[in-house]
Amino acid sequence: MEYRHSVQQIKKQILAKLEHNYGVGLENATNDQLYKSVALIAREMMEQGRSEFIAEAEKKGTKQVYYLCMEFLLGRSLKNTLFNLGVEESFREALQQMDVKLDALYECEPDAGLGNGGLGRLAACFMDALATGGYPATGYSLCYEYGIFRQKLVDGWQTELPDFWLPGGRIWLREIPEKAVEVHFRGHVEESWHESYHQAIHKDYTTILAVPCDMFIAGMDGSGVSRLRLWKSKGQEFDMGLFNSGNYMRAMEQNAMAESITKVLYPEDNHSEGKSLRLTQQYFLVSASIQDIIRTHLFKYSTLDNLPERVAIHLNDTHPVLAIPELMRIMLDECGYDWDRAWDLTTRTIAYTNHTVMKEALECWNEDLFRMQLPRIYQIIEEINRRFCQQMHDLGVDGYKVGRMAPLNDGYVKMANLAVVGSHCVNGVSGLHSEILKETVFHDFYTEMPDKFTNVTNGIAHRRWLNQSNPQLAALLTQKIGSGYIYDASQLKKFEAFKADKAVLQQLAKIKRSNKERLAEYIKRENNLVLDPDSIFDVQVKRMHEYKRQHLNALNILATYLWLKDNPNAEFTPHTYIFGAKAAPGYYFAKQMIRFIYDLGEVINNDPAVKDKMKVVYVEDYRVTLAELLIPAADISEQISLAGTEASGTSNMKFMINGAVTLGTLDGANVEIHDSVGDDNMLLFGMTTPEVENLRSAGYHPDQIYYNNPAVHRAIDFMRGGVNGVDFGDIVNSLTGNDPYMVLADFDSYQRAQAKAMQLYGDEKTWQQMCLVNIANSGRFAADRAIREYAENIWHCTPCEGKNSKLMH
Ligand SMILES: *Cc1c(COP(=O)(O)O)cnc(C)c1O
Repeated sequence: MEYRHSVQQIKKQILAKLEHNYGVGLENATNDQLYKSVALIAREMMEQGRSEFIAEAEKKGTKQVYYLCMEFLLGRSLKNTLFNLGVEESFREALQQMDVKLDALYECEPDAGLGNGGLGRLAACFMDALATGGYPATGYSLCYEYGIFRQKLVDGWQTELPDFWLPGGRIWLREIPEKAVEVHFRGHVEESWHESYHQAIHKDYTTILAVPCDMFIAGMDGSGVSRLRLWKSKGQEFDMGLFNSGNYMRAMEQNAMAESITKVLYPEDNHSEGKSLRLTQQYFLVSASIQDIIRTHLFKYSTLDNLPERVAIHLNDTHPVLAIPELMRIMLDECGYDWDRAWDLTTRTIAYTNHTVMKEALECWNEDLFRMQLPRIYQIIEEINRRFCQQMHDLGVDGYKVGRMAPLNDGYVKMANLAVVGSHCVNGVSGLHSEILKETVFHDFYTEMPDKFTNVTNGIAHRRWLNQSNPQLAALLTQKIGSGYIYDASQLKKFEAFKADKAVLQQLAKIKRSNKERLAEYIKRENNLVLDPDSIFDVQVKRMHEYKRQHLNALNILATYLWLKDNPNAEFTPHTYIFGAKAAPGYYFAKQMIRFIYDLGEVINNDPAVKDKMKVVYVEDYRVTLAELLIPAADISEQISLAGTEASGTSNMKFMINGAVTLGTLDGANVEIHDSVGDDNMLLFGMTTPEVENLRSAGYHPDQIYYNNPAVHRAIDFMRGGVNGVDFGDIVNSLTGNDPYMVLADFDSYQRAQAKAMQLYGDEKTWQQMCLVNIANSGRFAADRAIREYAENIWHCTPCEGKNSKLMH
């Protein structure tokens, strides 16, 4: 596909779109109309590119990858698309000639916030890497009418506003009503099937229509294009069949249900509440997607016998795990397979990624709720469970152990257990996390089936997070090491040769300074706060969570403030502490953490005694577009979760590639960042995972730390008196009570790492060398590498090499 059009052609296309879609000429067009016209041209380029890519893949018999995920946190698409298609400069020029600024059009686009945080952003980065790598891929998710809520702080208290993204966002979507599929809920099952377990008939079900809305994500150079198929539940016309048969209530119910399923994204990150509507959403996604995959496959091959050879289905976390019984259902009830054959095909097709070891995030559904909502799927899970338990007993496995591994237990459907039982491969998302999985949550499974378990460390779309969000740094890199790193991030390593090059180090400092100024302008506008771009920009942005320990950061800020008040002449490098995070709306403690940081800012930012030394900024409504502004401006990347709690983290990688120094624990992918850059280029602190376990089993007493550490004592006593007149007793009681995430245990070590950061920052050459080493060693955290590992080790598929594919395989 040749995407490059002349500037003249582009101008003509834009004018034609304005005329055709809005009936306006250039002189009357609004920026919003111009944005949509350009987006439409970009979308059509991708649609064409996708057809050519798929035709090529078909010809070569390339395996299809289907990535199922309840969340895709895409952010904006326009800049990414124009950049990856290699047409950004032509569009910029064409618009310039029409007296329009491309950057102003970018600002018209709302974020597609169809996700909460890292998990959804990972899925989005993977779509980019799949396309760039030449893998024909489809991501499946839901077309939520409302994405992640917009956050507004009212006196520091988070309030949530609906994110109705479609007015600006639907320009990227193509609805395909003729490809709609039916999804069936409730009803009952006719049990004429028990003997050989061949078929069942599901009756009196509620039918919901799933309509696909397709989006496209272009890979670099556009040789590959990924498709994101988002299902929308449709409030159909009232089912006259039901009305006529006297089933008034069911007809009404069906309509109400259809209206609600894809209305809104659940805003909980790393947490599961077991709510009925959420289960409905999950099955809706899974059933529509599996039916779609099967339909496509049968159309091509007329059989499912070769499914595992031609198709890889990936489950991103347990949310889409019902794909396993759904695929079984279709094979048994609709295609006439016997159980053993169906099970073999299913398990060889499906793989699963685990994203957390935290108990509150492990999904389980009440059996009664489940059976009522999905009677046939429940039966199939019962049979999966029965056969699995039988098989384990036959192998002589201890009964308690079998119970712990069972998909059905204690009156619950255990989604993680079902995932492991029904997939051929299970992976964690960092080296440490994958080891912890084998030692803890999946230990029983690991001892019975060790070969199922593997690791794929997460990665990021470095073209978005480096080239697009930090163009100055990208230009410096291209000038020094060539543009090969755009296709093969491991080539960033070449940049290490410039470690002693004074001019390069100075340029790095200059670029950082300019990104800090860009951020400072935004914060002046939004928060009416003036920042000093020469101060250390110390940034912690991610979801608000106790395990991520924003309160550790905040407690240090408070202790530092109190110390500066006592020691006004002490040497201190001016510091700007920047936070951004949404809390789940029902997570009361996390909301108090936000308020604590906000009120701390109110006290500190208004105290003339520390005026030129400290500032605390809370940036509202953290999202992808803000991340793209914040991360390139960071000197310090705060990655301070308690060791053993953060599965990988991906913002740590985004910061690293933008030349921030990680101040972090040995948790998640921080361990691998540390492996890459060594002690000298990272600010390590805190307990290791085994040390955390040891302390916990020996008995952890945070109150003793409170009594023995004067800085902790002082800060907590201050909090007891209220901060900015607001009571934070809950946080104090948590920290001095059982301190579940061991904030106080790591506090002293954190303070020492902060002091070291300040000392190193004072020496510009040393600091910039650290930044350079981080950039040069960040290549292994590219999503391209992660996708290559998934393809080779899990999906067993090779890319469809396009004629202009420059990726290294
Ligand atoms: C990358 C990203 C995340 C994930 O951040 P972690 O620090 O890895 O939890 C969350 N939200 C947004 C908007 C992101 O871009």
